[in-house]
Amino acid sequence: MGYNPAMTEHAPLAVFGGTFDPIHYGHLRLAQEMADSLAAAEVRLVPAGVPPHRATPGVSPAMRLAMTRLAAADNPLFTVDDREIRKGTPCYTVETLAELRAEAGPRRPLVLLVGADAFLGLASWHRWQELFAFAHVAVAQRPGFAMESWATAMPLELREEWESRLTDDIASIRGQPAGRIIARETTRLDISATRIRLMAAAGKSPRYLLPDAVLDYIRSNHLYP
Ligand code: ATP
Repeated sequence: MGYNPAMTEHAPLAVFGGTFDPIHYGHLRLAQEMADSLAAAEVRLVPAGVPPHRATPGVSPAMRLAMTRLAAADNPLFTVDDREIRKGTPCYTVETLAELRAEAGPRRPLVLLVGADAFLGLASWHRWQELFAFAHVAVAQRPGFAMESWATAMPLELREEWESRLTDDIASIRGQPAGRIIARETTRLDISATRIRLMAAAGKSPRYLLPDAVLDYIRSNHLYP
């Protein structure tokens, strides 16, 4: 029998953070497929606050938030959480997860969704080992980051966490609030925000790589000139 989120008291809350500059189908497909495999009740999209080292001139956090809202608008599974942008200062995922844990209560499974590239860099995140106290981590494929080579690409500390926390069992994710890692094959879409920005700047159309509503917003606000 499949899991029916409507019938369970503690359907997972998936949390998906990113710069979303702009949000694209690589993000949305990952969120949809992970939500389906976990039978998550909601995917919370959390656009990152001020990332001083990578903000694109001309694209404000408010605009990244607006694009995220447009992309999420027609999917009842997706909600947009603007807390990192509202803070206006750089914030850390561990702090966002601590807040979400406080709001969700101690028992509900929280699952942080990440692409393979983000996961392989996890050990550089602020207080990264505490992430597992607040949430599970679900890792998705990303072209260029073959799953077979992940173990060797991980720094030792991360590999230790990977080996002790990895599970293939959705029930163990749904049955506890936090602390496991799950890896999933998702449709590999070789789309990146960087390439979309470069295409737009070169006068090429990024159409079909991201939702039309986001593309219209980019055009009418003359983003990525
Ligand atoms: P940029 O090119 O500006 O670095 P990006 O396209 O990598 O942006 P981010 O907002 O930095 O997007 O990514 C947020 C999250 O989405 C990260 O966990 C990243 O691994 C994941 N992600 C982004 N694009 C894809 C993709 N095409 N397939 C799988 N995961 C992706």
